[in-house]
Amino acid sequence: MVAAIDEQRAAFRAGDGDVSGEAVVDAAAQRLTRAAALGLTGVLNGTGVLLHTNLGRAPLAAEALDAIRDASAGYSNLEFDLESGERGSRYDRLGSLLRAATGAASSLVVNNCAAAMLLILDTFARGREAIVARNALIEIGGGFRLPDVLARSGATLVEVGATNKVYAADFARALSPNTGLILRAHPSNYRISGFVADVAPAELTALGRSVGVPVVEDLGTGALFDLRAYGLPYERTVRDAVGDGMDLVAFSGDKLLGGPQAGIIAGAPAAIARLRANPLLRALRVDKATLAALAATLRLHADAATRERIPLYRMLATPLETLRERGRALQRQFPALEVIDTEAFAGGGTLPLAPIASAGVAFVPAGGATAALARLRAATPPLVARIDEARVVIDLRTIEPADDARVAGALAALFAAN
Ligand SMILES: *Cc1c(COP(=O)(O)O)cnc(C)c1O
Repeated sequence: MVAAIDEQRAAFRAGDGDVSGEAVVDAAAQRLTRAAALGLTGVLNGTGVLLHTNLGRAPLAAEALDAIRDASAGYSNLEFDLESGERGSRYDRLGSLLRAATGAASSLVVNNCAAAMLLILDTFARGREAIVARNALIEIGGGFRLPDVLARSGATLVEVGATNKVYAADFARALSPNTGLILRAHPSNYRISGFVADVAPAELTALGRSVGVPVVEDLGTGALFDLRAYGLPYERTVRDAVGDGMDLVAFSGDKLLGGPQAGIIAGAPAAIARLRANPLLRALRVDKATLAALAATLRLHADAATRERIPLYRMLATPLETLRERGRALQRQFPALEVIDTEAFAGGGTLPLAPIASAGVAFVPAGGATAALARLRAATPPLVARIDEARVVIDLRTIEPADDARVAGALAALFAAN
């Protein structure tokens, strides 16, 4: 309704004739019908945020889509062992691929990383104590708050250290016969700096091993390789965590892996076996389409040459000049556009402080930036842009080159209306 009123107001300012209460109601009704008809639909992401949680995080590679089709259009060997002809487990399908990708001997895939953490805490810490540093009691987007998940799983949280400093001795002092696990969490989208101290991960795992307590890392982002290859800052990888001796490492499939929504747990066979025996796993289980897409994405990761078929890495690797050139091509169609340099972001709670040099187009719309943004969202497909002061900005790093024509379509509709 508000959007419809805005639209009518903009139309009135632009000198459009028919502005009445009825027209507003009609426009609002039209909007509702359109929204209902769309359901879940593809959108053009002009925000420059590569892993935009509200826009579905990682776009999938063509190979992943083919794999979904292959595994889902007909029957599959989801829980069937083709060698023996007997019942098999869906959790065995990705074993060797994940071993190669993570360096861990065993693994398990569940619905998402939050589910992975819930399963781990329920298995190892229910009715027991979980030791966590104060600086790791994170909340990430979408209501995932580590202390709450801990409470939900029936674990007693034992906080150690100060907000800014924690030492191995703090963990050692907190150990008790009732300790279920020691937990380390990736700070994701926040940083503390200045007068700080943290425990080296390997020091933590040595402590855990010395007393027979599993040490778990909630890594979240899940980089599979050193992102400095893409000019990004160093980000702790899954291999780093496994190499530091973590018993279990949990990360998302749709963040830096660039695959489908999934929670991947890599770790020691004994710890994974305990997770697999937990009846809760049945409620968190991953479906065949996800497994198929994840396997295809992992195969692309195996080689730096094929990695850029994953849209996330293709977008990261696009040279700045290519983006500017695409901007100039749009400008030739719409002289009101200005080609500008922008800052893109990885998003998804990863690398929050690392802007990625990017480029796009910008313009100052006649009826105000908010109304223009709404009009772009009403295009087919909807285009989600962002506002920078009075300007509308469309970042081209997060738009596939093949979609530039659709961006032009949305702009044409907007400029025609104004
Ligand atoms: C993103 C994230 C999660 C949650 O992952 P989902 O796959 O969205 O459930 C958990 N922990 C950390 C550290 C994260 O960054």
